Amino acid sequence: MNNKIDAETNPLIAKNIKFLNRKQKLMINNEWVEPSSGNFIDVVDPATENVVSHIAAGNKVDIDKAVNAANEAFKCWSKVTPLTRQSLLLQLADLMEKNAERLSEIESIDNGKSLIIARNGDVGSSINFVRYMAGWATKIMGSTLDISAPHMPGAEFHAYIKKQPVGVIGAIVPWNFPLSMAIWKIAPALATGCTIVLKPAEQTSLSALILAELIIEAGFPPGAVNIVTGYGLEAGNSLVTNPGVNKITFTGSVETGKIVGRAAVAEMKRFTLELGGKSPIIIRKDANIDTAILGASMAIFFNQGQTCTAGSRLYIHQSIFDKVVDGVSKFAENINVQPGYDAACGMGPLVSDEQRNRVFGFIKSGIEEGAEVITGAKKLPGAGYFITPTVLKTSQKMKVVQEEIFGPVVCAMPFDDDEEALTLANDTRYGLAASVWTQDLRSAHDLAANIHAGTVWVNCHNVFDPNLPFGGVKQSGIGRELGKASIDGYLEDKTVLMKLN
Ligand code: ADP
Repeated sequence: MNNKIDAETNPLIAKNIKFLNRKQKLMINNEWVEPSSGNFIDVVDPATENVVSHIAAGNKVDIDKAVNAANEAFKCWSKVTPLTRQSLLLQLADLMEKNAERLSEIESIDNGKSLIIARNGDVGSSINFVRYMAGWATKIMGSTLDISAPHMPGAEFHAYIKKQPVGVIGAIVPWNFPLSMAIWKIAPALATGCTIVLKPAEQTSLSALILAELIIEAGFPPGAVNIVTGYGLEAGNSLVTNPGVNKITFTGSVETGKIVGRAAVAEMKRFTLELGGKSPIIIRKDANIDTAILGASMAIFFNQGQTCTAGSRLYIHQSIFDKVVDGVSKFAENINVQPGYDAACGMGPLVSDEQRNRVFGFIKSGIEEGAEVITGAKKLPGAGYFITPTVLKTSQKMKVVQEEIFGPVVCAMPFDDDEEALTLANDTRYGLAASVWTQDLRSAHDLAANIHAGTVWVNCHNVFDPNLPFGGVKQSGIGRELGKASIDGYLEDKTVLMKLN
């Protein structure tokens, strides 16, 4: 295993080589500090299995320090004018844009994803979101209300609701979209006057550390944002249980989300959970078939299928079933599976060996339960956690259909009519997203209204917008991110009632 990246064997730009070769620290109070444990975690490039950097293994001591810094910073940051918050966020977005290539390359080497996805799906959309949230900083409004107070006849009142920042935010993010998930939490926190401690995923913490550099450079006051890398059971759990944290915002698996939610309730912390999904795609017989094949393929194979909204259950009208399965399989077979930072990459490696084994475990269980492999289900020889994009013909009760795989594996099944499609689509513990492919407006509205999911796309999939709230129903989570809903999640209502006579 290499411990150093060198310029001749690696395409990374010089600034990133220097960055990777340094021993990473924690960012607390705008200062770079060593982890109190003195321990570090290897950062592995999933395309080569080489160790390319080391991140600090933060623990309770470091988290406590960061939460104290965030509490101290809250005293001034919550009083800073909205215009200053907006300006600083815009300044951060400009710096991210200036460093976009550096951030994209780091995201690609750390997570394995293709540079194109890193540039557009991660870095580009993060910059847009910071700018969008900067706008909200100056548009937070309370309200005045007329009241009756019938037991006090003749009394005159002035009543208003003031929106106030929740306080210190503890944010925990996963490894699939490391920068975006961090920004989805940091930007609304800062826009509303909250301060934040972020715990990135231990597999993919590097882009958050570059972001920390840019946050300091942008001029945010010490303690407004703190970044403590480390393991979930140490740093993550310490953050969730720290009494100085007012709200937890978590993105990750259902199982960990439940642990986090329970710990938050124990202290009555506010919490937002954005968890897993098993998103259905329904292709009606009146759909534009070529568009639907392309859409369904992208919906599952985008980001190696490591997307909580991945279109992993593919329900196809029986009259077009063979044609669509054939089309999606051909698409899968034509994907260039190679390192994300190679120019021709269509799909990179999975994030880790553990994740690849998990995905193969699901494929194996599907085969044992009678699933037919149409294409894929192979590991690439040599180094790297590569797997070929996989299409399975399955039936509804198989584990591979019911559980989130988080890999490039799609389960195809036929249906006879909309009622059956709806029953199958809703037969899941998840409810994050879905897509419907049809040219019939009436059916599109009917299905959109009746699918149990936080988001339903029609004739598209995985289209996100800063202004559109995103989150799940059922076990896919609680609360919404993006849009005004996100801002609301970082504010408390303060009711003020004045008797005037
Ligand atoms: P995965 O299994 O795919 O890594 P997780 O939901 O376990 O997904 O991880 C998402 C994030 O939650 C990561 O940052 C991880 O370190 C963190 N995490 C894991 N376990 C805990 C825990 N018990 N408390 C707090 N955070 C945790």
